[in-house]
Amino acid sequence: MEKKEETLKAEVFIDPANRAIRSSVYNMLFKGLRKEGGQWIEDGTLIRWGAKPEDDPPFCPFGPEIADIEVSAGKCSGVGVGGCSYCYKSNSPDKLAQNMSLATYKNVLDKLAKSPALGQVALGLTGVKDNPDLINIMRYTRDKGIFPNFTLTGADLDLEMAQDMGDLCGALAVSCSPTNPNLCFDTVELFTSLGVQQTNIHVVVSEETMEFVNFVLESQKRDPRLKRMNAVVCLMVKPKGRAKGRFHPPTEESYQKMIHKCLTEGLRIGFDSCSANRFARAVNTGEFSEKRKERLIQDSDPCESLCFSIYVNVKGRVFPCSFGEPCEGWGEGLDLLAADDFIKDIWYHPLAHEWRVKLLELGRDCPLFPEIR
Ligand code: SF4
Repeated sequence: MEKKEETLKAEVFIDPANRAIRSSVYNMLFKGLRKEGGQWIEDGTLIRWGAKPEDDPPFCPFGPEIADIEVSAGKCSGVGVGGCSYCYKSNSPDKLAQNMSLATYKNVLDKLAKSPALGQVALGLTGVKDNPDLINIMRYTRDKGIFPNFTLTGADLDLEMAQDMGDLCGALAVSCSPTNPNLCFDTVELFTSLGVQQTNIHVVVSEETMEFVNFVLESQKRDPRLKRMNAVVCLMVKPKGRAKGRFHPPTEESYQKMIHKCLTEGLRIGFDSCSANRFARAVNTGEFSEKRKERLIQDSDPCESLCFSIYVNVKGRVFPCSFGEPCEGWGEGLDLLAADDFIKDIWYHPLAHEWRVKLLELGRDCPLFPEIR
């Protein structure tokens, strides 16, 4: 892979809802969400292609399409005593709160927005009230023509905040914990009643939680609170934080069984990029038409860290992804706040380049946790 940032030229088209890039090696169209007469129009779809429509570009030479920015960490008020048993950040209610201030967030986003491809930000949160600037952070993001997405539990949510979030976010996800699925389902019902079409459920997939995952997947058929929900997004557990040693990636057999069931029964399902290669294997072993298999695999996107996405922690430090902190050889991470030129200093930093080469050599399978591949 060569560094082409000095020579590549891109044509960029942006309107309040859409974003498109045309160049000789990388092309994309992001159809954002907009509200018309109280209705959400479009669906947040992102399509990318290379020199030819059938080409898959290895990375975006102009910067990330999506940024994962951690705006609160440590203390988490969005859960019960002790916190979620599989929290990979080991956040909990009794820890010290660390928040990214609005001023720091503006600085971070202004730098990241040098990427013309950046259409979405995934805000990394603890409880929704832990960072008092959260709503203003979302507002600033929208004002820059970028859609803020986030995940919450619903535990510390109130109606006023939900309305503000519903007006500002692109998509949101509600974490579903085995200790309180009703909190999740009630929160999903609240956001869908507010018109947030892209309301998803996040559920952590591990061998130990498989029964619960199946319960959540099944619930979309019978629980009226989920009738307008978008999808249940299955997140692969990582051996990190509180999950380490307690929760393990599902066996190939149980994962494939789950995917086959969803696809056969028409359950609305999504998954993180960390599971995309496993999903592709499950699709290929299923009894589906070749055309359907091709379409399903084309719609899935394997690990995109530092190829199409970037992670910035609460201190403004860059790592390949939120699970990759710390990351071997990365020390305290790349200092985004000190960077003069985001594209040159961060996106094309030698560490980012090295990571990208490694990830692409692995076929975009996880370089961090071989056990989840
Ligand atoms: S590096 Fe691994 S954990 Fe991080 S996003 Fe990629 S697949 Fe997931």
